[in-house]
Amino acid sequence: MSQPGEEPSPYSQRMPCSLHHLVWFRRDLRLGDNPAWAAATQQADEVTALFVLDPALFDRAGPFRQQALVAHLEGLDAQLRERGGRLRVEHGDPTRVVPALTNELDADEVHWNADTTPYAVPRDANVTAALGDKVQEHWGTVIHEPGRVLTGKGTLSKVFTPFYNVWNKTEMTPWATGEGDAIIAADSGAGLPRLVAAQENVGGEDAARNRLHHFLGRIDDYLDTRDLPAVDGTSQLSGDLRFGTLSPREVAAVVGETTSGRRGFVRQLAWRDWYAHLLFQNPTMPSAAIKPEYDAVSWRDDADEFQAWKDGATGYPIVDAGMRQLLHTGWMHNRVRMIVGSFLVKDLLVDWRKGERWFRHLLIDADMSQNIGNWQWVAGCGTDAAPYFRVFNPWTQSRKFDANGDYIRRWVPELAGLATKAIHQPHLAPPLDLAAAGVVLGDTYPHPIVDHAFARHRVLAVYQAALGKS
Ligand SMILES: Cc1cc2nc3c(=O)[nH]c(=O)nc-3n(C[C@H](O)[C@H](O)[C@H](O)COP(=O)(O)OP(=O)(O)OC[C@H]3O[C@@H](n4cnc5c(N)ncnc54)[C@H](O)[C@@H]3O)c2cc1C
Repeated sequence: MSQPGEEPSPYSQRMPCSLHHLVWFRRDLRLGDNPAWAAATQQADEVTALFVLDPALFDRAGPFRQQALVAHLEGLDAQLRERGGRLRVEHGDPTRVVPALTNELDADEVHWNADTTPYAVPRDANVTAALGDKVQEHWGTVIHEPGRVLTGKGTLSKVFTPFYNVWNKTEMTPWATGEGDAIIAADSGAGLPRLVAAQENVGGEDAARNRLHHFLGRIDDYLDTRDLPAVDGTSQLSGDLRFGTLSPREVAAVVGETTSGRRGFVRQLAWRDWYAHLLFQNPTMPSAAIKPEYDAVSWRDDADEFQAWKDGATGYPIVDAGMRQLLHTGWMHNRVRMIVGSFLVKDLLVDWRKGERWFRHLLIDADMSQNIGNWQWVAGCGTDAAPYFRVFNPWTQSRKFDANGDYIRRWVPELAGLATKAIHQPHLAPPLDLAAAGVVLGDTYPHPIVDHAFARHRVLAVYQAALGKS
């Protein structure tokens, strides 16, 4: 961007009477089925495609999400180059950058796809206040926008199934589709940061669509395999949905509902919409429990135990496997997210907000609405229909969902030599079996940092006290 007193960039020189629109990309990093992009390229003669690298978000993201973002932005830029333009990347606070660039370009309209988080909503309101009626806000990040899926009483359901029943029958609000023939501005602005070890060929819309089509080969088994972390049974599209390299409506349409596996998958997209709607309606969710009585829980918050959880060194193999998958890849299987979350909150009595922040830092797909909604579900303080006394037994979960121990062997290799019957609870294995597998408890692999039966009684007592049930 030019500074005050500088000559404006040559790309901001306008043809007389031509319409110039700006599209501010945020978490919709695609050109296909993107209502903001479709509307702008159809309405304007020239379009500037803008991404603002906001340090308040970028600096807090862990390495996996930073790399994924840059890779997706490179992919978007490559698509724009094919059309003769560039992605313009500017750095700074969008509430200043977007109005300043709008003025500099003398843009007639500014388009974006709305977001639901307590960071995005006031940010967008500030930009709207600065730009007034130049703003065209679209949806494009969820299948149904907040406010569209309501109970008969006109409220957002706090339980998933009634929400889903209405969601499934709700007509989609029409949104702009296709792409117009506007000229795309070719100023790349300040450009993207260079990141070490960014993966190649994973970013952008084409790569995302390839992942979707790859998954279609397995989708009909989804209900049988989605809970098995050792199996490639889920789509791993959460990062694409988070960055918007795929449109959720397009994913739902491509998948369809012709088999139970496909219907089960689309139901998960309804969970995604639901958590987005919940956060939009409850902007205090990041810090306050939806069920406020749960904020009276006396957390132990033991720093060493929290560290052991983060490091994958709790002595609970299924928990350690999950936490190491997260540390090494920035992704974790959903079933294991539930197990490690429950272990942190219920077995260690660490405040769910601490786990949420650690996940948010490391996850490629970290998304405030999904992460907070799921953490509150795990802690039982949100929208979970189950009673507070449901406490996952990590060993039972391990035996049920990783029956052969393959997932544990992959992520906790120091236990790989143990027989399947011993791998879930190595602390109960006979000393000779441990020795044969090269496992020395307390040395090569930790003892359990807490006894689950004891921890279960403890958390029930603490929750009961908070809820006034003791
Ligand atoms: C403690 C915890 C934290 C989580 N944090 C996040 C997060 O920050 N971002 C995120 O996208 N998901 C989060 N999830 C939900 C879920 O674990 C991931 O969406 C899923 O593991 C992604 O893998 P997938 O794409 O292979 O899922 P699939 O099984 O293929 O599901 C398809 C899509 O449906 C949506 N979906 C699936 N499960 C859920 C769910 N439980 N809640 C909401 N949407 C769902 C996702 O968009 C997912 O990509 C969290 C779950 C837990 C238990």
